Amino acid sequence: MDKISIIVPCYNEQASIPHLIPELNKLMESMKECEFEVILIDNCSEDDTLNMMKEIHEKDDRYQYISFSRNFGKDSSMTAGLQASTGDYVAIMDADLQDPPEILPTMYKTIKEEGYDCVAAYRENRKGEPFIRSALARIFYKLMGKISNYEVVNGARDYRLMSRQMVDAVISLDESIRFSKGIFSWVGFKTKWIGFENRERVAGDTKLPMKSAFQYAIRGIVGFSTVPLVMASILGLVFFFVAIIYTLYVIISQSLFREAVSGYPSLMCVMLFGFGLTFLVLGIIGQYLAQMYLEIKSRPKYIIKESSMKEK
Ligand code: UDP
Ligand code: MG
Repeated sequence: MDKISIIVPCYNEQASIPHLIPELNKLMESMKECEFEVILIDNCSEDDTLNMMKEIHEKDDRYQYISFSRNFGKDSSMTAGLQASTGDYVAIMDADLQDPPEILPTMYKTIKEEGYDCVAAYRENRKGEPFIRSALARIFYKLMGKISNYEVVNGARDYRLMSRQMVDAVISLDESIRFSKGIFSWVGFKTKWIGFENRERVAGDTKLPMKSAFQYAIRGIVGFSTVPLVMASILGLVFFFVAIIYTLYVIISQSLFREAVSGYPSLMCVMLFGFGLTFLVLGIIGQYLAQMYLEIKSRPKYIIKESSMKEK
């Protein structure tokens, strides 16, 4: 009998959990051929999430919980769940029912019958999301695919079912600044993508404001591509050549034709442009340096304060 672990990262989800649990129960009921373990990860919520988890665990010991000492972000929650999981197959699912539990049986069947290592879900549309956000997301996924060799499907969710072998591979990547979508792609394995109609969160608000979405994008690019650094070098090189040619022009026109050097406005433009570019390039290098700095400290990815699970 296969065991499936379901990991659910939760941050202030007291409104969603009462909707989630019956759905999960229904799901487990419909998959009698499997054994289940649900690991609820509390990302140090300020509301009643942890207490609810404890209650659920008391009533039904298929439900386990892990609670962090502070908010370490969703990617750390997923890592904690993967590391604690004991199933032959492991699923990651959001608490807000935006990842439909009812497609999990199809995911499982696909892995078992079609020989995939992983089945991942993506949203076919982004109905209900602000236009600007979906447009930016689309640009990000395009860019990401171009400049790293690791494809991230547009609309990709973190919702997926993976084999134990793949989970072990994902855990073996020890980086502390984790961009999970990139990691899932980096480890390889055969992945099948299945689409589903976007749905609104069942209750509560999104925990990923625009600001963290930007930080998330930068983390992804810096973590999985060095193309921006190459671009910075190329920019430097181009400007170096432009400078040489312009210098030659000035020298020649001065010595041959005694032309006055053109005035203040053009000089100002060149200087401002040059300075702007210098800082831009420095900024790019800075992003990489910052990630290296944080990575070198090799701090733990999360700190567990309470848990119903035994340490592995
Ligand atoms: N989440 C988390 N830690 C965080 C932010 C979010 O564990 O710091 C969880 C959240 O409870 C939810 C999932 O990650 O189960 C996805 O978050 P959300 O629905 O806010 O993101 P969105 O679906 O809007 O991208
Ligand atoms: Mg959501």
